[in-house]
Amino acid sequence: MQNETIEKLIEQFRTLPSVGYKTAQRYAYSIIEGSKTRAENFSNAIIEAKNKIGFCKECGNFTDREVCDICSKRNRKIICVVKEPKDVVSMEKVKDYEGVYHVLFGTISPLENKGPDDIRIRELLERIKNDGVEEVIMATNPDVEGDATAMYIARLLNPLGVKVTRLAQGVSMGSDLEYADEVTLSRAMEERRLMK
Ligand SMILES: [Zn+2]
Repeated sequence: MQNETIEKLIEQFRTLPSVGYKTAQRYAYSIIEGSKTRAENFSNAIIEAKNKIGFCKECGNFTDREVCDICSKRNRKIICVVKEPKDVVSMEKVKDYEGVYHVLFGTISPLENKGPDDIRIRELLERIKNDGVEEVIMATNPDVEGDATAMYIARLLNPLGVKVTRLAQGVSMGSDLEYADEVTLSRAMEERRLMK
């Protein structure tokens, strides 16, 4: 029978993505075996991140300011649209991309009961009206939902006179941006195609 306090810590680690019981137990033991300072640093970093990090009011990405570094320093006339905050990190591997991002926080997915109003499409339209946007690059994942979302947004934006492009299929079908390397992503960006 395991100690109740240890069990509680293990349960917390288990709430993290892809962490099963054995892994959670290893993490918990590692914390307990380590120094008190390490445990304090660990828990403080969690609380600090939770307290300080919010959403950029332009692109929606995580930031500790009102407007993130990318939105405040780069060309707002080019917007690269991604599904999740971690996709911004992937796209930043692309050399020479000078534009900004827009994080949708999801894709249109009938299976998950997610429609256009459940992701940040309205906010994208606002930005297009306010910033004189010239090009929107759809960088949602090359899967069924990512394609459907790109198509939906292209249909909304084309009548507004905004150029909409889609990353080329260098990123192999069904795979996430997350796993694409710098060369593949840079090529996919270079060879992006016009969506009509
Ligand atoms: Zn931003």
